[in-house]
Amino acid sequence: MVAHQPFDRWLHCGAGHVHWGAAGAAGLLLGTDARAGTRRYLLIQRSSWVHEGGTWSVPGGARVSGEDALRAAHREALEEIGPLPDYRVDQVVVEDCGGGWTFSTVLAVTSTAFTPVPNGEVSDVAWFGAGEMGALELHPGFARFLERHPLA
Ligand SMILES: [Zn+2]
Repeated sequence: MVAHQPFDRWLHCGAGHVHWGAAGAAGLLLGTDARAGTRRYLLIQRSSWVHEGGTWSVPGGARVSGEDALRAAHREALEEIGPLPDYRVDQVVVEDCGGGWTFSTVLAVTSTAFTPVPNGEVSDVAWFGAGEMGALELHPGFARFLERHPLA
């Protein structure tokens, strides 16, 4: 019997990339309710000591055994920015890197204001309008996501 499935590890995919998370990874792209005005999105700045440190992205991380993208994104966001408000999921975008590894972005909306409590993997957390993200140093994976799925 295997007590711990080793999904929290680096994976070399079929396209020659190196990815964190042997079962894929997921992130939570949480936006405010557009009815409250211009929609804003919650992003984290990764701490300098983690992979792609200093860049802005969605909270998220590696999926573990038996977890779907929704659960993984929620669990990782909870770890990184503390208790989450109620939110509704609008869409899950699953992207394959070309080598069989997937990152799932969970697009969700909340109408509840809350104060994120960042953990040590996160150096900053803030809300941005879609038009403000171009001025940020984005994580390369999140930047590619935005190119393919522009936010309103
Ligand atoms: Zn890959």
